[in-house]
Amino acid sequence: MNKVRLGRTEIVVNKNGFGALPVQRVSMEEAKVILRKAYENGIHFFDSARAYSNSEEKIGQALHDVRHEIYISTKTMATNVEDFWKDLSMSLEMLQTDYIDIYQFHNPSFCPKPNDGTGLYEAMLEAKRQGKIRYIGLTNHGIDVALEALESDLYDTLQFPFSYLASEKEERLVHLCKEKDIGFICMKALSGGLISRSDAAYAYMQQYDNALPIWGIQKESELDEFISYQDHPPVLNEEIKALIAHDQKELAGNFCRGCGYCMPCPQGIVINQCARMSLMLRRAPAAGWLSEKWQAEMKKIEECIHCGKCMSHCPYGLNTPELLQKNYEDYQTFLK
Ligand code: SF4
Ligand code: SF4
Repeated sequence: MNKVRLGRTEIVVNKNGFGALPVQRVSMEEAKVILRKAYENGIHFFDSARAYSNSEEKIGQALHDVRHEIYISTKTMATNVEDFWKDLSMSLEMLQTDYIDIYQFHNPSFCPKPNDGTGLYEAMLEAKRQGKIRYIGLTNHGIDVALEALESDLYDTLQFPFSYLASEKEERLVHLCKEKDIGFICMKALSGGLISRSDAAYAYMQQYDNALPIWGIQKESELDEFISYQDHPPVLNEEIKALIAHDQKELAGNFCRGCGYCMPCPQGIVINQCARMSLMLRRAPAAGWLSEKWQAEMKKIEECIHCGKCMSHCPYGLNTPELLQKNYEDYQTFLK
């Protein structure tokens, strides 16, 4: 089994981490089965967030009796000290634990630092002093905030989207983490569903010995794939290299990563799916995306009032309304 050391935290875990965002979408019983199976098969790092509805509660229910054998990272979106403590207290309760291994600021629009007037970083230090958290992390989708966090040396870990579709700048981020001995946790290692071959994603990650991917797992079949790689790790052979090169070419440039930070839309447009519909139609079975439900969702693009809210929140600087329009036009060609 390949292992990863998360920088200065000295946490060493299986290179298969568990991203617990998707378990929100399944029942408590299903989630417990999946989480427990992951644990029993050597997956011992679980990442959640206060913002992922009942994800923390599911981890707590499934794994509270083995708490000291696993590592838990979770996140707060608090922008003030009062909410920080409320979130931390609720996370501890839901996770059925009295400590969190890595507590992360969840995609903040700035890099919290001591004396910045928010008191947020000081609250992290106090939580650490009280033994409620062990390490301080930050997650982000924006490269500028991520770089600032690394340069500040205030964070033990950085969580950032990273897959074989990453740009050179993003690859540099992983190397910088290694140089600074900061743990690197990669989210979206399947690029929000655009990468359909998990073996290729896994093989690519093998090149980065300091990167811990947290695969977003919702189904037992997905979990089984990742577990199978522990004994037989896929290698970056010629076939996989060719696939990666093909995908990099096809997905180069400004595509929607499906992160959803631009939502909600006042017109109810499901931006994080509709703005990448062209890709989904070509990279996944198209039938589901052509259903009456999705036809109605895509039609809502006609109601866009160009308020600009989505664009101002997109960490990738996308012209979202334009992207939606392009996807809508392409979608209609599939319906003919
Ligand atoms: S610009 Fe259009 S898609 Fe974007 S938030 Fe406004 S209404 Fe929604
Ligand atoms: S438009 Fe931007 S913010 Fe919205 S889902 Fe796509 S990548 Fe994320």
